Amino acid sequence: MVKQKNVCVIGAGVAGLVAAKTFAARGHEVTIFERSGDLGGVWEPARSYPEIQTQSPKELYRYTDRPMPESYPEWPKGPQVHAYLTDYAREHGLLPRMRFNATVTGMARRSSGQPGWILEIATPDGSVARQEFDFVAVCTGQFNEPQTVSHPGDDAFKAAGGKILHSAQHTDASIVRGKKVVVLGGSKSATDIAVNAVNAGAGEVTLVYREPVWRIPYFIGGLVNFKRILYIRAQEEMFPGWGIGAVSRAAHAMAKPLVWANWRALESLLKLQLKLKKCGMVPEQRIEDAINCSVPIATPEFFPMVADGRIKAIRGTFDRYDGRTVVMTGGERVTADVAILAIGFKLGVPFLPEAYRNKLVEADGQYRLYRVIANPDLPDMGFVGFNSSFCTVLCAEMAANWLVRYCDGQLANQPTATEMHRNMDMMLHFKRVERPAAGVYGGLCVAPYHFRHFDELLADMGATIRRRSPLVEKFTPPDADAYARFLASAPNYRVEAA
Ligand SMILES: Cc1cc2nc3c(=O)[nH]c(=O)nc-3n(C[C@H](O)[C@H](O)[C@H](O)COP(=O)(O)OP(=O)(O)OC[C@H]3O[C@@H](n4cnc5c(N)ncnc54)[C@H](O)[C@@H]3O)c2cc1C
Repeated sequence: MVKQKNVCVIGAGVAGLVAAKTFAARGHEVTIFERSGDLGGVWEPARSYPEIQTQSPKELYRYTDRPMPESYPEWPKGPQVHAYLTDYAREHGLLPRMRFNATVTGMARRSSGQPGWILEIATPDGSVARQEFDFVAVCTGQFNEPQTVSHPGDDAFKAAGGKILHSAQHTDASIVRGKKVVVLGGSKSATDIAVNAVNAGAGEVTLVYREPVWRIPYFIGGLVNFKRILYIRAQEEMFPGWGIGAVSRAAHAMAKPLVWANWRALESLLKLQLKLKKCGMVPEQRIEDAINCSVPIATPEFFPMVADGRIKAIRGTFDRYDGRTVVMTGGERVTADVAILAIGFKLGVPFLPEAYRNKLVEADGQYRLYRVIANPDLPDMGFVGFNSSFCTVLCAEMAANWLVRYCDGQLANQPTATEMHRNMDMMLHFKRVERPAAGVYGGLCVAPYHFRHFDELLADMGATIRRRSPLVEKFTPPDADAYARFLASAPNYRVEAA
C-alpha cells in the first residue's frame, strides 16, 4: 500500500492545476502556492496583453476530463481560457487548497536524512514562513519571469514622457491610442501587439525584429486548419527522433527526397499565402530546421498590415534611445511615445538551492530531466508543464500522471537512477547534435515529437491502450478524449490515508 504524502505544488497555472488535481485524486494531501493573487499563470488577466488568444485550437488546449465550452471559438481568447481554468479548479475542489500571494523563495532538504523539503514562502506583507513537504511538484512554467533589457538613454526617454513596457505589462489597449508605438520582438506576442495597436488606433506602429522566421497561418492555404497538417503523427514521423536504430535511420534516408519535397512545397505555399517576398520577410532557415515550440502562428492581419505600410517592419534591434527617438542597430530612427518590449521570459528555478540547480541545468542551459519531468539527483520532486509544446495542457496532464506514479513508485517501468542518467545523456546528445532545434527553451520543448513523448509516458505508466485505429492515429491530431481512455487503462491505485 502506498502511503499518503504531504505534497506541495508551486504555481497555479495550467500545469499546477492539473498536478494538484492528479495528486489529490490519488489521495495525497496537496497545497498549492501561487505568488500571484489569481490562478491561470500566463492566462491571468492581469498579465495578459489585450486581445490575447491561444495559438492552439481549443480541442488541443484542454484537459482530458473537460472540453472547452462549445460556445468558445476555435482559438479562445485569454479571458475564456482563464474562465475555463477557474471552472476546472472549482470543479476539482482545488480552490481551498490554494495559497495566493505566496511566493516560494527557497527550499532546503529536511534535516536528519528525512525525505522531503522545507519550503520558504514569502508573502507581500514581508513575512516569511517555513513549511515541510514530502514531495514538491514544480509547476512554475517558462513564461513568468519577464526578460529584461536596458538600452543607453532609456531613463532620458522615460523622463521625456516616453513609456517602456514589457509585453506582460501591456494590459491596457488604451495606452497606445493615438500614440507612436514601437514593438521590439518577432514572436507571436510581438506581432499580436503590433496588430492590436493598429486596430486600437495607434498613430504609428513599428515592429523591430532580428530576422524573419517561419510563421504558420491558422489556415494553411487559407483552407486547412494547421492542426490537420502539423499536429499529426504522419508529419511528426518525418523528423528522425531520438534513439532510433539502423532500420529506422535507413527508412528516413530512403524517404528523404519525399520529405524534402514536402517541406519545400509548404515553404512555397507560405511564401505565397503570407506574401513574404512583398513584405521582405522570407526566412533564411529551412522550415524543417525551425519547427519547435518557438514557431509562431501568424497573427492574421500582420503580413497584410506590413505589406500596406500600416506596420513598418525594421530588421535589427534597438541600439539606444536618443531623447524620444529609438535608434536601431541599422541606424534607422523612429520617434516613439511607447516602446513595448516583447522580448520573452527568463527560464529558471530560482528557489532551488544552487547545488541542486547545478544538477538540473547544464552549463549550456540545457535541462537534465528524464522524460522532461524528473532527475534522480533532485529527490522527492518533479516538474510538470516543463514538457512544453503546441498542446501544453495535455502535456502537463500526461506529466502529472507520470509524476504521481513516479513519486509513489508505481510506474510500470520505474526507472533506476542509472537508467535515468543514461537516457538524459542520450537526449542531451540528440538536442545538441542531432536536432539542435530541439534544444530551444533549455531543451524543454517536446514539439514536434508530441506523440513520441506521450507514447513513452504511457508505456512507463503501463497503459494497455495507447493508440487509436491506425489511420486515425496517423492522420489526426492528438485527441484529449482518447488520452483519457489511455490513461484510464494504466494500473490504478490509491494511497493510504496517513
Ligand atoms: C502569450 C502566450 C500564449 C500561449 N499560447 C499557447 C498555446 O496556444 N498553446 C500552448 O500549448 N501553449 C501556449 N503558451 C504556452 C503556455 O505557457 C502554456 O500553454 C501554459 O499556459 C503554461 O502553463 P504553466 O502552468 O506551465 O506555466 P504558467 O502559466 O507560467 O504558470 C506558472 C505559475 O507559477 C507561478 N509561480 C512562478 N514562480 C513561483 C514561485 N516562486 N512561487 C509561487 N508561484 C510561482 C506563476 O505566478 C504562475 O502563475 C502560451 C504562452 C504565452 C505566454
